[in-house]
Amino acid sequence: MEKKAHKGKVSRPPVIVITGHIDHGKSTLLDYIRKTNVVASEAGGITQHLSAYEVTHKKSDGSSQKITFIDTPGHAAFSGMRERGVGVADIAILIVSAEDGVKAQTIEAIKAIKESVTPFIVAINKIDKPNANVEKTKNELGEKEVFLEGYGGNVPFVEISAKIGTGVPELLDMILLVAELEELSFNPEKQGEGIIIESHLDQKRGISGALIVKDGTLKKGDFMAIEGAVSPIRIIEDFKGAPISESVAGSSVSMAGFSKNPKVGALFRTFPTKKEAEALAQEFVKAPHKESGSSIPVLSEEEEKLTRIIPITLKADAQGTLEALEKEIAKINTENVILKVTNRGIGTVSESDVKLALSGNNPIVIGFNVKAEAKGKDLAERGGVTIVLFDIIYKLTEWLEEEAKKRKPKVPVEETLGKAKIIRCFSKEKERQVVGGKVTEGVLSSGVVVKILRKDFEIGRGKVLELQQQKIKSKEVTEGNEFGLMIDSNMDVAEGDILESFRIVEK
Ligand code: GDP
Repeated sequence: MEKKAHKGKVSRPPVIVITGHIDHGKSTLLDYIRKTNVVASEAGGITQHLSAYEVTHKKSDGSSQKITFIDTPGHAAFSGMRERGVGVADIAILIVSAEDGVKAQTIEAIKAIKESVTPFIVAINKIDKPNANVEKTKNELGEKEVFLEGYGGNVPFVEISAKIGTGVPELLDMILLVAELEELSFNPEKQGEGIIIESHLDQKRGISGALIVKDGTLKKGDFMAIEGAVSPIRIIEDFKGAPISESVAGSSVSMAGFSKNPKVGALFRTFPTKKEAEALAQEFVKAPHKESGSSIPVLSEEEEKLTRIIPITLKADAQGTLEALEKEIAKINTENVILKVTNRGIGTVSESDVKLALSGNNPIVIGFNVKAEAKGKDLAERGGVTIVLFDIIYKLTEWLEEEAKKRKPKVPVEETLGKAKIIRCFSKEKERQVVGGKVTEGVLSSGVVVKILRKDFEIGRGKVLELQQQKIKSKEVTEGNEFGLMIDSNMDVAEGDILESFRIVEK
């Protein structure tokens, strides 16, 4: 039974992220929890990698409650939070190995948790190991201003072994206790809203992704607004991949058929009509991003693949000029490119400037109102480093803008090859259907994967198994001609639907 938290609101499961230094046991802990807390019959059905999963934990008082774990790279769970002030995770688990103690990524994780003001629990892991030193680990945490309960602070902690499971039930108890104090609740009558945690292109199902609902109810048939795009909610599944018609806050959902690749960390909101969704999608685009505190945004793995960082060495004649230039460079905004001033200084472009620049990937050295020394130029030529000299700011920024565009990483995009309208549906056997229609644009070829569009929205995909023109097998049918074909799809094709063939090109 759901516990009432506020008037008109019901409590929801907490959403948890596990973060910490590499090899300190994040995956081991997630695996252990999944193995011991996802009902066996359900676990058997899970084959693909999950971006999130839900477990049911039986507390020591006998009652059961749900907990949702996010299993994406730590940064992704925080990125939305940092940009928008809204978090995917309600509670973070900071995992620290008692064998190694506090390490570089532990410190980074502490910083991210504190900046995002996420309540957290420390899990001191690997206590089964002979070299484990729990006290030392606690002291090191104190040095980083993480003051544990009983050690001058109020941060809850649990000593665990993710490998053999010691302390894990206590950790789950603690998660539910912290969740209770947070009074996590939602209004089931509200439209759904939440955050994208993963997205990818699936050849068969189109743009697919995973999301966490943070408030309201996400319903099939509604429309989802995300940063400049509206997607119809047609195919939604629970974390096990079973089709669902709605999902409430605190749960993880996968969805297929996004109209545009959604960014990890992007917020979404759902609406009963397309029109309302469109209005908000535009607003999302206009809304300025909140300062993230650092000039380099925290990127998810997916975003990192699509982003190019250009390291810049900046030399100028005066400190004031350097600062002015850095400000101007920061204003240059090219999609998927980050211009990062890694080195700066006053004076001519020297050999050592070039040497330093060489440690970066495809760097640019810029001199402003200064010259480049011959030795520096030589080394740059040998090392393939670009040196450019300017004495007018706008010329510099113009050039840099062009250069950023040139170096923009290629992104896969879909290009339409042809469209065909279905006029008649003849027969259907399992997932195979025989239909007739006319090519209205471009060409339709045998063997290709096509999108099935109904009222301009993609409802699914299918593969053209056989194509005929005037009852003769043909490889392709061109614009204006009628055809018959057999399609393999888990969606039923209906009269009036459009089949769209496409290819993926890098742009
Ligand atoms: P991650 O990088 O944080 O995901 O770390 P992993 O979960 O991959 O763990 C790194 C290594 O530590 C693996 O070899 C695990 O088997 C081991 N490990 C993790 N937790 C424990 C533990 O509690 N006890 C012991 N003995 N080994 C552990």
